[in-house]
Amino acid sequence: MSRTTRSFFRSAHSLSSLAGKGKQTFDVVVVGGGIVGCATARQLKISKPELNIAIVEKEKQLAVHQSGHNSGVLHAGIYYAPGSLKAKLCVEGLDLAYAYLDENKLPYKKTGKLIVAVEPEEIPRLDALYGRALQNGCRDIEMIDGKRIKEFEPHCVGLKALWSPHTGIVDWGLVTRSYADDFVKRGGKVFVDYPLTKIRSAAEGSDYPVVISSTPGLPEIQTRYLLTCAGLQSDRIAQLSGCNAVPKIVPFRGEYLLLKPEKRHLVKTNIYPVPDPRFPFLGVHFTPRMNGDVWLGPNAVLAYKREGYSYFDISPTDLLDAISFRGMQKLMVKYGAFGMQEFYRGVFYAAQVKQLQRPWTPRETSWRTSSSTMAKDLSLLECSTSATLRVPAPPVVSPSRR
Ligand SMILES: Cc1cc2nc3c(=O)[nH]c(=O)nc-3n(C[C@H](O)[C@H](O)[C@H](O)COP(=O)(O)OP(=O)(O)OC[C@H]3O[C@@H](n4cnc5c(N)ncnc54)[C@H](O)[C@@H]3O)c2cc1C
Repeated sequence: MSRTTRSFFRSAHSLSSLAGKGKQTFDVVVVGGGIVGCATARQLKISKPELNIAIVEKEKQLAVHQSGHNSGVLHAGIYYAPGSLKAKLCVEGLDLAYAYLDENKLPYKKTGKLIVAVEPEEIPRLDALYGRALQNGCRDIEMIDGKRIKEFEPHCVGLKALWSPHTGIVDWGLVTRSYADDFVKRGGKVFVDYPLTKIRSAAEGSDYPVVISSTPGLPEIQTRYLLTCAGLQSDRIAQLSGCNAVPKIVPFRGEYLLLKPEKRHLVKTNIYPVPDPRFPFLGVHFTPRMNGDVWLGPNAVLAYKREGYSYFDISPTDLLDAISFRGMQKLMVKYGAFGMQEFYRGVFYAAQVKQLQRPWTPRETSWRTSSSTMAKDLSLLECSTSATLRVPAPPVVSPSRR
C-alpha cells in the first residue's frame, strides 16, 4: 500500500474585521469562507489578478462548518453516474488536489479504499460499481477476491472488494485555510465576523450595483458581482437575492464513533460497504484520520439546527423550517423507518457497532454456533470488543447537497 505523508508548512493567513470601518467597494464579493468560497475566490484572483476581491464569512474563523467537519477523504470518483459533471470533476479534481497538496507541502496520506461486499447479493452491485469506476476513468481500480482483501487490510473479511489505491485522506479545513492564505497573498481580502443579512440594489447607474449589509456596527459593502457559497445557508442567501425558497436545505447530522486508540491498528485504509441503492448515503464506513484517529460512521439523523453539532443544539426556526417543508415530509414518508433506525443507532452505540461489523456467514458455518473467535473471523472488521466513544463534534450532513 502506497502511503505518502508530506511535511506540513502553512503561512499565517490574515483574517480581517470590518468592525468600525467605513463603506467598502469591491469588484467581486464571495459570501462564505468554506472550501467552495475560498477555492472560488482564489481561482478568480489567479485568473483575473486585477480584480479587487473579498470573501465575507459570518464566523470568526474559516472552515468551521462542513469544510471543517467531514470525513476528510480524497474521493476517487467511483460512485457518480458516468458522464455526469460530478464524475468528471471528482476524477480530475483528485489529481489536481494531490498536485496542490504537494506544491503547498500540505500533509495527506494515500491510504487507498476498499468497498467490501459481505453478502452474495451485494456482488452484482459491486460489479456495477466497478463498471462505473472504469467508465469514469478512475485510475488503477481493481476488483479483488476475499483473499486479496487481507493484503490491503489484514483484519477485514469479505467476499469480494473494489480496491481504489488513489483514495486518500486529508484535513479539508487545513486546505481551505491554505486557499485563503494564497488568496490573501495575491491581494484578496478575507473579512470574518461578517454575517450577510441583506442584499439590495444600489442607485441606478452605480458602477457597483450590488449592496450587501450585515449586523449593526458593520459597514455596507458595494460590489459589481456577488458570488454566494454559503453551504448550509445557501438556500436562504439565494432567497435574499430574490430566488425561490426551493430547493431548500434540510439538515441532517452525521454522527461518528471513535475507535479506541489500542484498536487503531485494525484499520489502515478507508473501508466502505457496498452502498444500498434505496438510500442516498454511502453507508457507515471506517475512516482513518490525519491525526491517527479512526472514525466509524456516519449515521444520518435529522438535525434540530442547521449548524448544530449535538442533540442539544436546537433552533426552533430551523426545525420548523425543515419539518414544514413538503420535500421533508415526503422524505419522512419514504425513509421514515430508515430514519428511526438511524436515530436508534445514534442513541444505542452497540447497534451502530453491529452495523459496522455486518457479518458474512459462509454456507458451511452457522452463525448460531459462532464462538467469540469465530465472531471475530466473521466480522467485516474485528472490532467487536472495542467500546467506542462519540466524536465530540459530529458533522452536519445536508443530503440535498451531496
Ligand atoms: C458528514 C460529511 C462528510 C463529508 N465527507 C467528505 C469527504 O470525506 N470528502 C469530501 O471531499 N467531501 C466530504 N463532504 C462534503 C464537503 O465537506 C462539502 O462538500 C464541502 O465542505 C462544502 O463546502 P462549502 O464551502 O460549500 O460549505 P461550508 O464549509 O459549510 O461553508 C459555507 C460557509 O458559508 C458561511 N456562511 C453561511 N451563511 C453566511 C452568511 N449569511 N454570511 C456569511 N457567511 C455565511 C458559513 O459560516 C460557512 O463557513 C462531507 C460532508 C459532510 C456533511
